[in-house]
Amino acid sequence: MPDGAEEFRKMQHALDVPCLKPGAMEGVQPFKAKPEHQEKVGMPGELIPDWKEKALEKMAELGEKNRAFKVYLDTCVKCGACTDKCHYFLGTGDPKNMPVARQDLLRSVYRRYFTFAGKYFPWLVGARDLTEDVLEEWYSYYHQCSECRRCSVFCPYGIDTAEITMAAREILDTVGVGQKYSNEIIGKVKEVGNNLGLNPKALRATLEDLEEDLEEDTGLAVRLPLDEKGADILLITPSADFFAEPHIDGLLGYAKVFHEAGVSWTISSYASEAANFGLFIGSYENMREISLRIRKAAEDLGVKRIVFGECGHAWRVAYSFLDTLAGPFDFLDQKYPIPQHILEFTWDEIQKGTLKFDKSKNDDIRLTYHDSCNVARASRMGDMPGGQFEIPRNVIKAVCNNYFDMDPDTIKESTLCCGGGGGLLTDDLMDLRIKGSSPRMTALQDVTEEHGVTHMAAICAICKTQFSKVMPKFGYEMDSVVSVHQLVSNAIILTGSNDGESAEEETSDE
Ligand code: SF4
Ligand code: SF4
Repeated sequence: MPDGAEEFRKMQHALDVPCLKPGAMEGVQPFKAKPEHQEKVGMPGELIPDWKEKALEKMAELGEKNRAFKVYLDTCVKCGACTDKCHYFLGTGDPKNMPVARQDLLRSVYRRYFTFAGKYFPWLVGARDLTEDVLEEWYSYYHQCSECRRCSVFCPYGIDTAEITMAAREILDTVGVGQKYSNEIIGKVKEVGNNLGLNPKALRATLEDLEEDLEEDTGLAVRLPLDEKGADILLITPSADFFAEPHIDGLLGYAKVFHEAGVSWTISSYASEAANFGLFIGSYENMREISLRIRKAAEDLGVKRIVFGECGHAWRVAYSFLDTLAGPFDFLDQKYPIPQHILEFTWDEIQKGTLKFDKSKNDDIRLTYHDSCNVARASRMGDMPGGQFEIPRNVIKAVCNNYFDMDPDTIKESTLCCGGGGGLLTDDLMDLRIKGSSPRMTALQDVTEEHGVTHMAAICAICKTQFSKVMPKFGYEMDSVVSVHQLVSNAIILTGSNDGESAEEETSDE
């Protein structure tokens, strides 16, 4: 085992409660956004002189606009059911990473200024003044929450700490204290169309290289089309699928599935990003701007359907909010889900008998599956409850012989975050990311010991990147995390039924 793996293995069970370590993560925080990053998301460049007044105005506005936020702040009865449910608390032992304590960082200020008791008897109700120290504490601990919503599953009142985290981040942004990683990425999507800042020319070259590789491997013209007008399907996928491992192997899997299904499809250079970091910073305005790019791409290309690739929070935004943010999508073919997940597409084709597999191609691995938080707890797939749990497993079992679930307390609705979600996938938070991943890694180590599991599949770009970085700390190779469509790609039997005929190609690279 590599350095550190044994230390984490000492946690006997994924969900064992750690010894309390007050202040262990005090001051741990990501880099703050510079003025140029702030301006791109429409926020002040630095802490504004009247920050306190503006922060309280924003809190009041959020309470009026978002009734759930106010109910969450008013309702908690301190029952304690959520205290040991957060992977960052389990991994760090810092009591301020207990969900109820995290909420109280903001609730205590809300009480001070917006409740009768807090205004007149603050010491009786745990109310406190808003100060610059409080802002710093918010910046630290609201960036130690990945907005995964696991705690909300266990709260008898359904209080969602993720919503409070988003509100806190929005208040911080409003007064000029934003997070560099998320805000810089949003700026790139608005300017170039994707998180990477990959321009259309570079994207076209990447896709052409991949087509050449696929032809070499398969002997068939499996296409990865870009900006093809009149294609049936617009694929919106995380830009990590264009370059990162194992994401790119998933992209090749989508291409093979579309090829074998005989449908025409295209990627858009204008909306070449599924990720929507507007969600992470709690900004509906930014979420809307990014979503509108997808609408415009679909209209300009004249597609009939929109399919999303493997990305957790992108699917949450698409499934739950796309229609409100950028709808109505009445110009698309109403026969199909709007939008549709690539796994729904693949599972439909499997059920229709269009796709054939040689499962033995995946016999060199023994597999488990990590349910991504935003898919598991904030969206659905298919037309039945729990489809978001069953459809990925159905597809995996259709292409793999050796599949084993992890501990039931750590999967499906109770799944554990990878530790890098919610805008925390940045190297300045690596220590937090490793500690936050330890409950999931411990559950993985359990199935490795019990069933000889060697690999874990995921359908989220963030999970894949996070696991490939942290798995070596827990005794696994970095390629022990795989894309679900990578498994599909390995096993699919291509018949060459699609000769690669393209829809009308748009010539411009602008
Ligand atoms: S939403 Fe997730 S990360 Fe945030 S407090 Fe709850 S369990 Fe922890
Ligand atoms: S489970 Fe809900 S009500 Fe109980 S302490 Fe946590 S947030 Fe409060």
